[in-house]
Amino acid sequence: MPRLVILGRQGSGKGTQSARLAERYGVPHVSTGDILRTAVAEQTELGQRAKATMDAGDLVPDEIMLGIIEARLAAPDAMAGFVLDGFPRTDAQAKGLAGLLGAEGLDLAIDLAVPDEVVIERMLGRGRADDTEEAIRRRLDLYEEQTAPLLDWFAGQDLLVAVDGVGTPDEVFARLVEVIDERS
Ligand code: ADP
Repeated sequence: MPRLVILGRQGSGKGTQSARLAERYGVPHVSTGDILRTAVAEQTELGQRAKATMDAGDLVPDEIMLGIIEARLAAPDAMAGFVLDGFPRTDAQAKGLAGLLGAEGLDLAIDLAVPDEVVIERMLGRGRADDTEEAIRRRLDLYEEQTAPLLDWFAGQDLLVAVDGVGTPDEVFARLVEVIDERS
């Protein structure tokens, strides 16, 4: 069963595709965005701390995110495999993840590649509560600044594959499955 990281900008379709991949391979879909949104909705302590940060499109501190991921990946259902969506997003998170998983703890990191125009068009159509224009712009900037450099980091470990994210969800899904099956 695959242990995957899906990287992609906001609006790349990584949430949708990660959920479908998790179902296909019978592993949990671990979305840090979903985990945080649930915490906000349930008004847990974490949710209360994270809400303003998320509304602004800023990043929740690395120590908090690493704690969340450590707990989630330790659960029995994630032992055999997982699809990580929205994590890691920073250098510290990537290194923390490597520390948690140890050598050969990941099978593949996929860069779901979609050009700017497509991303913006898609996002204006979806209207999530934290999707204000300002927050969207902030997230795209942070992605370029902090998350895009991780692509090189994964490539350096021979874990990175880029997949074209333009097309219908079914087309993109078929490309992803092909790449994953080829590699495992
Ligand atoms: P996107 O819409 O960019 O795909 P997500 O749904 O993954 O965003 O996450 C929504 C928000 O949750 C982010 O804007 C950020 O505030 C917070 N968040 C999610 N994952 C992380 C992470 N790994 N590190 C820091 N903050 C995160």
